[in-house]
Amino acid sequence: LVHAVNVTKAFHGTEVLKGIDMDVHKGEVVCLLGPSGSGKTTFLRCINQLETIDGGRIWVDDNLMGYVDKGGRLHRLHDKEIAAQRRDIGMVFQRFNLFPHMTALQNVMEGPVQVKGANKGQAKARAKELLDRVGLGDKHGAYPAQLSGGQQQRVAIARALAMDPKLMLFDEPTSALDPELVGEVLDVMKELAKAGMTMIVVTHEMSFARDVADRVVFMDAGVVVEEGPPSQCIDAPQHERTRRFLQRMR
Ligand code: ATP
Repeated sequence: LVHAVNVTKAFHGTEVLKGIDMDVHKGEVVCLLGPSGSGKTTFLRCINQLETIDGGRIWVDDNLMGYVDKGGRLHRLHDKEIAAQRRDIGMVFQRFNLFPHMTALQNVMEGPVQVKGANKGQAKARAKELLDRVGLGDKHGAYPAQLSGGQQQRVAIARALAMDPKLMLFDEPTSALDPELVGEVLDVMKELAKAGMTMIVVTHEMSFARDVADRVVFMDAGVVVEEGPPSQCIDAPQHERTRRFLQRMR
């Protein structure tokens, strides 16, 4: 579903991604691990074109993201076309970014109604279903300020799902949460994985990666150092850099 080839990205002359290759298959859960500053967030943002890449190519479901290829030359798509490509990709951030003046239900309905032009009644019914699915059946009318961080993050997941994404990107979705709230968000993500959603998850939650990931990709300083099933990459890493990182995580 995701096919990234030799992706490079620099900020002010500093190369943050130094040629990333990555394939993610339909239904696969890939956890991206690595030290702070290794480029994990930047790579996620490149997939859905929140950042423009400097080199390489990224396909999502056979669509070349952000560009049209004319005889090997890339031409940037218009913002509207990029927004249309992005619609198939759900993203959940570290901070929940809910609309503060809208209820949980309104937050989840907003995308389908405003962006997809969905019928309000149908969007509402679906939003209710999704809130129930993330365990917030009794919070439809609550405003973000009335919800805990874990509940807000679950609303954010429901909101992303309301757009019927083919792919979900999670950027450290639990790192801003109090420890006792982490589990409820990870549980929702586990359910989603079980239901067959294709997911790329940047996380420092090793037990989640071990239990849920089909594959772990370890990044450091803008390159993929090592990848493989968790049993290999987390429990028996081959590279010194991976080992050092994992030791610090313990
Ligand atoms: P973390 O776990 O801390 O989120 P990360 O692996 O996700 O780290 P990135 O956030 O991708 O790393 O950042 C990689 C490098 O790129 C960092 O040095 C960061 O300061 C830099 N960087 C990221 N975004 C920008 C930006 N918009 N402008 C300038 N530099 C940036």
